[in-house]
Amino acid sequence: MTVPGLFDLGGRTALVTGSSRGLGRAMAQGLAEAGAALVLNGVDAGRLAEAAAALRAAGHEVHEAPFDVTDEAAVAAAFARLDAEGIAVDVLVNNAGIQLRRPLVELDTADWRRVIDTNLTSAFVVGREAARRMIPRGAGKIVNIGSLTSAAARATVAPYTVAKGGIKMLTQAMTAEWARHGIQANAIGPGYMLTDMNRALVDDPAFNDWVIGRTPAKRWGRPEELVGAAVFLASRASDYVNGQIVYVDGGMLAVL
Ligand code: NDP
Repeated sequence: MTVPGLFDLGGRTALVTGSSRGLGRAMAQGLAEAGAALVLNGVDAGRLAEAAAALRAAGHEVHEAPFDVTDEAAVAAAFARLDAEGIAVDVLVNNAGIQLRRPLVELDTADWRRVIDTNLTSAFVVGREAARRMIPRGAGKIVNIGSLTSAAARATVAPYTVAKGGIKMLTQAMTAEWARHGIQANAIGPGYMLTDMNRALVDDPAFNDWVIGRTPAKRWGRPEELVGAAVFLASRASDYVNGQIVYVDGGMLAVL
């Protein structure tokens, strides 16, 4: 096996949840450039179609699976449709997520549940559907998207922090049960990245200064800077890497 061959995803299919924009879209493009066929996901059908069209125009094989990751029946139906079309998911990237900035004392229980459901329970539900199909094949790659908050809490994002801490332990729980079946479950913990999720924070001079001041790399991360970690964790190169979280954060966690 050559070194480039270790990272070759030819013949593999990758489902990336929340890949209509942001980090998911960048990782999907990177996985496609490494050779994978894609199953793109999001809730906004227009944005999903636009992302799919752009990747097809670049020559990639792209399927669209518009479903809400918090809707268990919709997730099951989407996997059933893929089964019917003969599409097997070899790589799952559990990326879909939302953030809500609100102090704990002002937080409604419904908002708490929405953030936990979207960022954490979804990874269990989609991961379970994927693993039910990967286990009989004896192979699969699961990449869960955590955060710096998988390791350290920040004020005003409590349910997000709890969800991302949960992503770290879900990754370890998946490893405990599924590594023996040839499934490698790992996670990526991005730092502060330039996406729609952070648009308001970039525009807030005090927050922007805090991010740049506290990040050893002295800048925000770009979505495409997750591609290396995503391709590594989706490829043969990580076949004996299990239950890890790779932080891609410009060094922020080293000094947090
Ligand atoms: P964006 O807000 O830019 O994109 C979110 C993506 O998730 C969109 O594709 C959106 O689809 C999709 N999505 C949201 N809710 C659902 C849902 N219920 N079902 C299906 N898809 C959904 O976010 P980012 O790209 O910034 O974040 C992606 C992931 O990375 C998240 O898990 C986030 O927590 C994590 N992360 C982000 C960091 C950052 O600095 N940006 C840092 C650390 C972690 P649609 O277009 O249809 O709305």
